[in-house]
Amino acid sequence: MSDAAPYSVRDGIAVISLNNPPVNGLGSVLRPAIMEGIRKAGSDPEAKALVLIGSEKAFSGGADIREFNTPKMSVPPSLPEINEAQDAFGKPMVAAIGGFALGGGLELALGCHYRVALPRSQLGLPEVKLGLLPGSGGTQRLPRVVGAAEAIRMMTTGNPVPAEKALSLGLVDQIVEGDLLEGALAYARKLVADGKGPRRIRDMKVKLEGDPKAFFEQARTEVGKASRGYPAPLEIVACVEAAATKPFDEGRAEERKRFQSLVEGNESKALRHMFFAERQTSKIPDVPEDTPVREIRQAAIIGAGTMGGGIGMSFVNVGIPVTLIEMKQEALDRGLATIRKNYANTVSKGRLKQEEMDKRMALITPALDIAAAKDADIVIEAVFERMDVKQDIFGKLDATAKPGAILASNTSTLDVNEIAAATKRPQDVIGTHFFSPANVMRLLEVVRGAKTAKDVLATTMKLGKRLKKVPVVSGVCDGFIGNRMIEKYGQQSLFLLDEGASPQQVDAAAQKWGLAMGPFTMGDMAGLDIGWEIRKRRYAERPNFVYSRVGDRICEQGRYGQKTGKGWYRYEPGSRKPIPDPEVDEIITQYGNEIGIKPRQISDEEIVERLIYALVNEAAYILEEGIALRASDIDMVYLTGYGFPAYRGGPMFYADTVGLPKVLASIEKFRKGYQGEVWKPAPLLVKLAKEDKRFNG
Ligand code: NAD
Repeated sequence: MSDAAPYSVRDGIAVISLNNPPVNGLGSVLRPAIMEGIRKAGSDPEAKALVLIGSEKAFSGGADIREFNTPKMSVPPSLPEINEAQDAFGKPMVAAIGGFALGGGLELALGCHYRVALPRSQLGLPEVKLGLLPGSGGTQRLPRVVGAAEAIRMMTTGNPVPAEKALSLGLVDQIVEGDLLEGALAYARKLVADGKGPRRIRDMKVKLEGDPKAFFEQARTEVGKASRGYPAPLEIVACVEAAATKPFDEGRAEERKRFQSLVEGNESKALRHMFFAERQTSKIPDVPEDTPVREIRQAAIIGAGTMGGGIGMSFVNVGIPVTLIEMKQEALDRGLATIRKNYANTVSKGRLKQEEMDKRMALITPALDIAAAKDADIVIEAVFERMDVKQDIFGKLDATAKPGAILASNTSTLDVNEIAAATKRPQDVIGTHFFSPANVMRLLEVVRGAKTAKDVLATTMKLGKRLKKVPVVSGVCDGFIGNRMIEKYGQQSLFLLDEGASPQQVDAAAQKWGLAMGPFTMGDMAGLDIGWEIRKRRYAERPNFVYSRVGDRICEQGRYGQKTGKGWYRYEPGSRKPIPDPEVDEIITQYGNEIGIKPRQISDEEIVERLIYALVNEAAYILEEGIALRASDIDMVYLTGYGFPAYRGGPMFYADTVGLPKVLASIEKFRKGYQGEVWKPAPLLVKLAKEDKRFNG
């Protein structure tokens, strides 16, 4: 028998033990082994029933992701073929679920005739999170067990249900306290003793409230509203409708057809791309996965402002003690009060227990002297964005931090190598660019300096994951990956105004396309003075470029965004709702007249192309320069840090979807306009477009 699923018989009950660590993925070795076991049990006169069991941690996590996009995916038998063998099996078959049964794992368990589970088990069909639907009978079997309403809820959210809930839904027949195998064997023996045979889900009827037509009409309305343009949830509803109104085999055929069309659709391709992109970010070609890492037991953070406070929360949220250092008592008190207020808010919403908040607050030690960082395994500096201030701090850290401590800067624009040069240990210096609010945002750009040691990089990446962030490696450059790109996007948004668009038109087009918010709403939120400062620097650095100064005109009026009650929009006191402002239109028109541009009607399509291709072109430079390790890292930065819609798959994946020759053609067209060299296409883009290749392989 195969090691992947050893077969045994215990006192008249056959047992197939799934054995494909870590999660019993239903890969090319496990599937045939299960099939062989089922056949064997079927003809084994000793076996009166069959138990399928996984490990305590995982019954099965579904498809084996290590085999995605490889020929191994199609090694027979398929999961539906196993399901057919389960349906045809003439003796009772019991799934013994320890840990989780997810996706194909739950579909395998639904192929069994009975299910028992450990109390801490989780059962779910999360395919929707990858823009898919359960394609191996899940949409047909689940509603036959739990009813149409609950099946729709489980499959359109993708969230698993715990064993207790599964029991109440009838998805699990018994909860086993103690040893899972013993419990499952006892359950199987009782079935045999009671003369119970196979109980095939395919023969059951789907339960639903009221008239089916009205029920599914209602379901479509509700799910349609919540799924905002993603096709998979509505496809799931259609499959459940088929389950409720058609014979099993017809429903299965419909499921297969709808699954296939989702697999081929751009949304699911994008979501699957992002799923793998997240797993790629920690792979660094010259830093092997087994690089020894330094131990991080405690941290110090210098600066308890906007960022320092949020970073501190990220650490104590996962139980790492933090020393929070400021220069003045007042600033320290303010920083601590903000942290306390943030936690208290979460407590008041019932999302955090008071004891947990107290525990986290107790992990923070306030201090007023950099020397307090002497025992920290990592020090993160988050003070004002000024090189002299940062260098002064790193000089002091060099003198006081313990040997081997990682010295990190949260700078968003400054040269990490220059900061490192203020120490005699540049190998220990690295950039950790958190995003605001740092306790919420998942993105962490890990900036690798010229002299950063490999183990420092490996440690910081691992720490990032421990902090529940998505760490992405960036090389040193102005703005790193994300902000360097967003500057070009911001520039385009201003040019669009010069040519005749309004802030609200640009924002609406961007949002309709799928961005969390448009550039002007975002600018007002972040504060317009930040961009203004950067632009002033650029005017001096690159005098030959064309710039729109319309943003400066807005700032010159003291309109800095939400914080001043006016920016690209105006705001009622206490409100964050952007209201279009005729004064802004006036400023825009006047500036357009000054530079002699005749306003024209700009289509939403052009707005989106200009904004997104500006990101793509800069990203191509970034990739070519080796600032980003791979295209999918750039996609991940935009997904986790900039509100890019997951179903577009990030700027690089989106460009791949459009086709690079087409992207390049648009860029060349824009280049002929008055902005000229702003649109100089990146050589990498030109090369890939010529070869009709993609950024993402
Ligand atoms: P902030 O002004 O809110 O906080 C800075 C804090 O540092 C202040 O409380 C100040 O008192 C303290 N400080 C200054 N000098 C100090 C010293 N010598 N010792 C101890 N404390 C000192 O600024 P912020 O927005 O938190 O930004 C901090 C850093 O993070 C900057 O480098 C910034 O570029 C970067 N950053 C900011 C954001 C953002 O959205 N705000 C995002 C990413 C990165």
